Amino acid sequence: MVTTSQNNTIDFDAAKLQRLGFASTNARSLRPIGLAQLRQQLGLQLQTSLDAERTLKLFFTEVQRLVALDAMGYQHGTSDLRLELGERATHSATYRLTHEGEQLGELVFRRRIRFSDEELGQLESLLAALIFPLRNALLYRAAIQSAMRDPLTDTGNRVAMDQILKREVDLARRNLQPLSLLMLDLDHFKQVNDTYGHSAGDEVLKAVASTLKQLLRNVDMVFRYGGEEFLVLLSGTAAESANMVGERLRQAVEELQCVAQGKTIDLSISLGCATLLPSESVESLLRRADEALYAAKRSGRNRVTMAG
Ligand code: GH3
Ligand code: MG
Ligand code: MG
Repeated sequence: MVTTSQNNTIDFDAAKLQRLGFASTNARSLRPIGLAQLRQQLGLQLQTSLDAERTLKLFFTEVQRLVALDAMGYQHGTSDLRLELGERATHSATYRLTHEGEQLGELVFRRRIRFSDEELGQLESLLAALIFPLRNALLYRAAIQSAMRDPLTDTGNRVAMDQILKREVDLARRNLQPLSLLMLDLDHFKQVNDTYGHSAGDEVLKAVASTLKQLLRNVDMVFRYGGEEFLVLLSGTAAESANMVGERLRQAVEELQCVAQGKTIDLSISLGCATLLPSESVESLLRRADEALYAAKRSGRNRVTMAG
């Protein structure tokens, strides 16, 4: 069996010309009404959602009214969006979607039977109806994502933390899985600002955050809790392991080489570790982590303390 694989770039400006009727219609004219109607319907339907996944799923379903597909895959390089719909098959046609130089991701249609030229023409024509709704959905997704991040340290912000913490605590409770928190705070950070200046302080915060992210399995679980405080959420992790993770983070920050004005800045963090108790609220869990952090500070800093 011969496997086909086409690679194409769809540019909206060309697609717009097709909609205006300038494209060569040759084989497509066999089913002109079906295609035109579907394009019109798609145009309306796809505008009803700003959710990129929903938009793509709708597109996959609707396109099959004209062209049979076994699967459709989508991935967008700069965001984490990946989607595989249907069952994988040997033949594929790949389209890199762009609009005025903006990358809108890569779409792959898959099928057990080879695509005919007519079908490829139809798919390309239908893609034109996807471009704008997809672009809007991607912009919306990026806006939501950036509203959840702390711009300085590229960690989750408080909004993200509140949402994710609640979700993870619910999940842990339902699945009877352990969950631990590490609340950490830079030691004598005011001195760093006072000695080297605020912008050096900012660089230190970035370096510490990046150290935390490098060491942790799931980068999405680091949040900037306050000015120089971070929260690490460890799902599926019981007290003893959480303590070990905390110790690794503590050591890594201690070994961090941050240089300002030709001098290496002495850095350390104190950490409080708390593990979710049966039927404990999020607030109570956070409070216990915070109390453990204070205990770490009181007993000399640069250490991990377990919550009582
Ligand atoms: P401790 O060991 O008790 O935590 O001492 P500390 O000096 O770190 O604690 P304190 O709470 O007195 O000071 C925290 C400092 O963190 C004060 C504030 O200027 C600084 N800070 C908070 N947010 C930022 C930030 O975004 N950038 C910089 N450069 N400094 C910040
Ligand atoms: Mg501090
Ligand atoms: Mg603090």
